[in-house]
Amino acid sequence: MGLARALLLKGSESRWLAEQLSRRRFVRRATTRFIPGELMEDALAAAAVLQKKGITAVFTLLGENVEDATAAESVAGEYGLLLARAAEEGLDADVSVKPTHVGLDLGFDGAAENFQSIAAAAAAHGGLVAVDMESSPYCDPTLDLYRVLRAEHANVGICLQSYLYRTDSDLEELLALAPMIRLVKGAYKEPHDLAYPKKSDVDESYLRLSSRLLEAARDGTARVAFGTHDPDIILEINRRAAEMKCPRESYEFQMLYGIQRELQANLAGTGYRMRVLISYGAYWFPWYMRRLAERPANVGFVLRNLLRR
Ligand SMILES: Cc1cc2nc3c(=O)[nH]c(=O)nc-3n(C[C@H](O)[C@H](O)[C@H](O)COP(=O)(O)OP(=O)(O)OC[C@H]3O[C@@H](n4cnc5c(N)ncnc54)[C@H](O)[C@@H]3O)c2cc1C
Repeated sequence: MGLARALLLKGSESRWLAEQLSRRRFVRRATTRFIPGELMEDALAAAAVLQKKGITAVFTLLGENVEDATAAESVAGEYGLLLARAAEEGLDADVSVKPTHVGLDLGFDGAAENFQSIAAAAAAHGGLVAVDMESSPYCDPTLDLYRVLRAEHANVGICLQSYLYRTDSDLEELLALAPMIRLVKGAYKEPHDLAYPKKSDVDESYLRLSSRLLEAARDGTARVAFGTHDPDIILEINRRAAEMKCPRESYEFQMLYGIQRELQANLAGTGYRMRVLISYGAYWFPWYMRRLAERPANVGFVLRNLLRR
């Protein structure tokens, strides 16, 4: 792992840095390229603009590791409200939720209940709920959460990370559930005995898993989303899909708001399903630092914005 990436990931865990920087208005302004605003209204407005370009939305309320059950329930309540507001505005909207944000650290059952209530709200408005995948200690409980949810709801999905060695076998087990799966590379700092240390291996794993998912999408046994901004990988996925006669409408690409905007527009304009993850909320610091760690070149972009204030 490069030094810049390691430092940014370390910084993402610092409460002190989060408190210092979150207070500075000019820092908040520099983040607006990737986070349209702290309020639900900001996220809804950004989704309405994208929908006019044929790009749908998946919303996430920023936050993780809540400290008590009341906070976890209020996160679930906020998602319910968000789904209702999105439906009122005619938006095609899913939500993506971190297990620790709805209380996984406090207990499995409470987190499952909160997810059930979000899934019910999403079903009422025709949306999907994706269960995010956090760092590796949460992997087993997150898969268990998904199994519990999937037993009761058709509109729930889960995220899998190609950097983990275990993901091939996790995917095979999940395919028995006719799942919705979002494949990503993985955003956390993981030990070498659990995750590929080399980026080329993570990419190779991503493509291997993609082929398996395309097969399932073609056969109608899974709903599939590829969460990546990687143009080479996207090209290769589309090539493989065409080769195996998997129609464009049977899978989706997902990217983060503000990243690879031109590629997002190109894919949407050429008949691919494109969904953009829009984040909002006051707790943006660790999330934002992980995004910078994924592409330290973006630090330059942020610094230029700060100097321009
Ligand atoms: C919708 C969505 C949901 C996600 N959910 C999760 C989750 O639940 N758990 C989790 O661990 N991770 C999640 N991630 C993050 C993911 O794991 C990766 O860390 C992140 O997407 C970076 O990997 P990549 O494949 O996009 O590109 P990389 O492998 O980082 O880079 C490959 C190429 O992509 C392009 N690129 C990448 N980033 C940028 C950028 N910022 N600006 C411009 N070009 C760029 C560049 O051409 C670069 O060379 C999610 C990502 C997305 C898009």
